[in-house]
Amino acid sequence: MTDIRIGIIAIQGNIEEHANAMLKALKHANRRAEIVKIKHRGIVPTCDALIIPGGESTTLGRLMEREGISSEIKEAAHAGIPIMGTCAGLVLLAKKGDRQVDMTGQPLLGLMDIHVNRNAFGRQRESFECPVDFRGLDSPFNAVFIRAPCITGCKEDVEVLSRYEGFIVAARQKNILALAFHPELTDDLRIHHYFLRMLDLTGTV
Ligand code: GLN
Repeated sequence: MTDIRIGIIAIQGNIEEHANAMLKALKHANRRAEIVKIKHRGIVPTCDALIIPGGESTTLGRLMEREGISSEIKEAAHAGIPIMGTCAGLVLLAKKGDRQVDMTGQPLLGLMDIHVNRNAFGRQRESFECPVDFRGLDSPFNAVFIRAPCITGCKEDVEVLSRYEGFIVAARQKNILALAFHPELTDDLRIHHYFLRMLDLTGTV
């Protein structure tokens, strides 16, 4: 099997945690891959999979646009490259945001037919952990939420993977996976393995 390249958008947010978790998952799955940190344009087109981390979606979105990375991510998404967005990454993947998103005019990638509430759990509870059921996993996943968003609506071909108190907190549409929580902050690698399986299905490796 050839080496695959997994790119992490490394402009802002929890980049190292994603890199470490993915390296652990690869080791565990006995697979080789290069983790590439993406800070400027020209690298996204060389990657077989992409991760958009959590952080601050306004800043991240603006910097990605400025660096010319956003348009490359859109092209990669349309070409079928698997993309995982966590937290702020989920917000950026959405086609439609809430009033706050509209008012600030923050740029979204618009790659998933989902509506998001950017700070759904942000104000009431800055951060918390909770086991959630996740479709395809045989036992609950301990989800870490940090000023987390949620998905308030989605089209039919979006597969809802997880809910917390009725709110959608994980979903997939074809090659795109969006998570309101942070799987890279726990030792449970099952969601990373799920993402690696999405890579197998693209036939690029
Ligand atoms: N709600 C935050 C935002 O939209 C994201 C928080 C996070 O990524 N931990 O920027």
